[in-house]
Amino acid sequence: MHTKTIAQLSAALRSGEVSSVELTSLFLDRIKQHNPALNCFISITEEQALAAAAAADRCLKAGDAAPLTGVPIAHKDIFCTQGVKTTCASKMLDNFIAPYESTCTARIAEAGAVMLGKTNMDEFAMGSSNETSYYGAVKNPWDQARVPGGSSGGSVSAVAARLAPAATGTDTGGSIRQPAALCGLTGLKPTYGRVSRFGMIAFASSLDQAGPITYSAEDAALLMNLMAGFDERDSTSVEREVPDYSAGLDNGIEGLKIGLPKEYFDEGLDDNVARVIDAAIKEYEALGAIIKEISLPNTGLAVPTYYVVAPAECSTNLSRFDGVRFGHRCEDPEDLFDLYTRSRGEGFGAEVKRRIMIGTYVLSAGYYDAYYLKAQKIRRLISDDFRAAFETVDVIMGPTTPTTAFKLGEKADDPVTMYLSDIYTIAVNMAGLPAASIPAGFVDGLPVGLQLIGNYFEESHLLNMAHKYQQVTDWHLQMPKEFQ
Ligand code: GLN
Repeated sequence: MHTKTIAQLSAALRSGEVSSVELTSLFLDRIKQHNPALNCFISITEEQALAAAAAADRCLKAGDAAPLTGVPIAHKDIFCTQGVKTTCASKMLDNFIAPYESTCTARIAEAGAVMLGKTNMDEFAMGSSNETSYYGAVKNPWDQARVPGGSSGGSVSAVAARLAPAATGTDTGGSIRQPAALCGLTGLKPTYGRVSRFGMIAFASSLDQAGPITYSAEDAALLMNLMAGFDERDSTSVEREVPDYSAGLDNGIEGLKIGLPKEYFDEGLDDNVARVIDAAIKEYEALGAIIKEISLPNTGLAVPTYYVVAPAECSTNLSRFDGVRFGHRCEDPEDLFDLYTRSRGEGFGAEVKRRIMIGTYVLSAGYYDAYYLKAQKIRRLISDDFRAAFETVDVIMGPTTPTTAFKLGEKADDPVTMYLSDIYTIAVNMAGLPAASIPAGFVDGLPVGLQLIGNYFEESHLLNMAHKYQQVTDWHLQMPKEFQ
């Protein structure tokens, strides 16, 4: 049962093959067994999960099941979950019990899913390796000496090790796609505004977007059916009809044009990863797609620009953590200034502090025009590259990451090298586009992800392309041996 997709689990629950209490207990047992090694959960909500599962079983018996009734799921610890500790993997929020529920998790719960717990992540979602968490690094189930990717590292580690059949993630610069790639999973970052950010702790508000982390595109579609849609409590959420993401999965893809940006295949890309991506593209050709080389000339500016915009937004978003209203407060402050500085100094980790300092600097009078304003202008150029590309192609494809999972500690002391691991994912967030990463093969036993980038609100199209590929390949069904 623990190896099944959520589509299969939902069918098994409806047919009575398994009850939600049995299923939930199975996953809770697996979490207890493997979490000490993988460290993918910050909180395990056993009692609530079993109560929700029992309620789900009653609905199933009464023939009154919603789409995911009784299916277990894990949530990244960035989503506020009412009455449950919500930490964002920061000491700052180590004592924070959320007084309200995020829209995303609420919609998933309303559809009957059972929350198993809250997953580990990089502190405030800042990182690419899950090593900046206050609760310690997460291990990659494919090789526990390696990182799972970040910032949604706990979510991918849990799903890859079959400790949860699906999880939520958030993606500001690649945090769904990059870890999904490094752990052999399907991850989708929706168009900016497609999924509500209400109750999702903000990192960089103009870039953050929540999405599903699953085995298959079919499962990602099921979760997108719940997560997507307008929310009046998020002023950036878009009022636009939500399609049935499951309905278009089987559409034919003959004649569709796939653009391969030449900048995504240059010297930074590992040769073995390149070979896997080439083979995946051939598979699409065999399915009838047409391949075309394109150029996204401002690709090289995406990482440097992001590291102006994201820290700028984070420095303002994180100013609310001042030791006054909620979160960590230092002992015996001498005065208000001491309260602020010591609470923030003690509560935040090194990477978060680095970003707050960079952000404060680029927004300060005298530097605003030189850095922040310039970055915003380049951001427009990056979007324009994609706009031009989508005039000639339907989907853009390339590697999700330049290499497979790296070793724990390998890049931890070198922020710039760490930042470059998001070189193929960040531009998508700058432009606000949807993109997915799907498993496409292995290099030395480590998973490789293929990235699919779509035009605005074309998530259905991406899921359709991903599903077609997953029908003729089985990379997405491979499991790390120890966790089968
Ligand atoms: N790795 C990038 C960063 O550190 C992106 C993180 C994210 O998408 N949340 O900012």
